[in-house]
Amino acid sequence: MDAADGGSEPVHIMGAGLSGLAAATILAKAGKEVHVHDIRADSGARFDGDFQALENWSMDVDFFDQLAEWGFDASTFRTTEFHVVDLIHPDDEITQPKSDKVAYRIVERGTSDHAIDQGMKQQALAAGAQIHYKSRVKEEDCTIIACGPKGTSAVAYGEIFETTHPNHIAFQLNDKLAPGAYSYLIIVDGVGLICTCLWRKQSKSERFLNETIAWYDKHYPDLNRKPIKRVGGKGDFTINQRYKQDGRYYIGESGGLQDFMWGFGMRMAVWSGVLAARDILGECDYETEVRKQLLPYVRTSVANRWLMNRVGDRTFKRMCRNWMKSQSKRGDGLVWVGGLFRPRWYKTLLYHLVTPFMLRKDAKSMGRGVRRMPFRKAKARDQWEPSEEASAIGTQWTEIRRSGAKTSFANDSDESSISSE
Ligand SMILES: Cc1cc2nc3c(=O)[nH]c(=O)nc-3n(C[C@H](O)[C@H](O)[C@H](O)COP(=O)(O)OP(=O)(O)OC[C@H]3O[C@@H](n4cnc5c(N)ncnc54)[C@H](O)[C@@H]3O)c2cc1C
Repeated sequence: MDAADGGSEPVHIMGAGLSGLAAATILAKAGKEVHVHDIRADSGARFDGDFQALENWSMDVDFFDQLAEWGFDASTFRTTEFHVVDLIHPDDEITQPKSDKVAYRIVERGTSDHAIDQGMKQQALAAGAQIHYKSRVKEEDCTIIACGPKGTSAVAYGEIFETTHPNHIAFQLNDKLAPGAYSYLIIVDGVGLICTCLWRKQSKSERFLNETIAWYDKHYPDLNRKPIKRVGGKGDFTINQRYKQDGRYYIGESGGLQDFMWGFGMRMAVWSGVLAARDILGECDYETEVRKQLLPYVRTSVANRWLMNRVGDRTFKRMCRNWMKSQSKRGDGLVWVGGLFRPRWYKTLLYHLVTPFMLRKDAKSMGRGVRRMPFRKAKARDQWEPSEEASAIGTQWTEIRRSGAKTSFANDSDESSISSE
């Protein structure tokens, strides 16, 4: 194998996730011989049927218009559009930011036919890319590195369940249930997901999920939740000094092209795959375009994360109020949240001021100068005893698991999730 920059040589891609498959499709369509290697048995196997949101607020252009412009067919996977969200304030008040535009689209991650990973895989295969699953390759033998998270900066745990509740989305800012982050409820066509994200490292982390589920059971009494399985995963948040090094392109989460604040990384994953493929085809310079098109968003998210790390429920409440005030004034709930994600000069300044303290060097980054946001320590306020309802939910899950239900969660390394497959 040759890690050269393309030419007539085959292009080897490490990782058949969203970013790797996006790059593979564009390259194969242009007539390149493309080999995608994935350590797992299938695309999406890192996830197990969890729902994720394709955000549509961080820029004026609709993500689906971007996909179409890049030549992707979004009808190869199932998406459910939402215009409204239940915003759950830390004091349990529920309000509803809304928009006439598509606010976000829910997709499924995993190996089901309608999952986004499978839709992207179909497109790569149709374009002529060859995908090799359970294939272990070396980084130095590949041109594109697209293998997702390496370290752990944050984790998310969720439960998937059957429900009779109609389609619905809720987003909750609550520092007890989701330390430093948020929890959410997604219901699509009779299947629900309750998930909590932990941006501070916890012992007995399952208690956060149980307590979060107990919260939703109490406030959404029509859920009729019948647990199916538990899922989860890690997020890796890094800033890279170089995105292309020694002829190799680092894309998606492998290149740190992720949202540090809340982990909305799918859009940047596909986008960076497109840019890497275009560079190989001689249409642009990846390093320049990543810095111009994607890094301003990443830097903004770093500044946002730094701020989030310093606040708790009082500020979360203020954020919820401001969000609703903005909606009353502008008539569109996307304006406030969009503003949070969009690059601003003062966030760039904050980024430069805080990163020396916030990030730690990754010695194993093959000279790319990678700095990672460490998984932060728990705070004293993260120690609490589970409620009776949460303990009962924990017991319910233990019984369901004994009868064969699965937990799929990759926390500390890719290895742990791979060996269980
Ligand atoms: C629980 C959870 C919820 C999330 N929710 C959202 C959301 O709602 N919205 C959003 O936009 N983003 C969300 N994200 C983030 C999003 O999933 C990632 O940003 C996105 O998948 C990154 O794409 P990628 O191509 O970089 O990596 P992936 O899509 O993860 O693909 C990486 C691939 O590389 C393979 N691989 C790993 N190691 C190797 C190796 N050594 N050799 C070969 N192959 C390898 C893996 O098996 C995998 O198939 C969430 C993440 C988690 C964990």
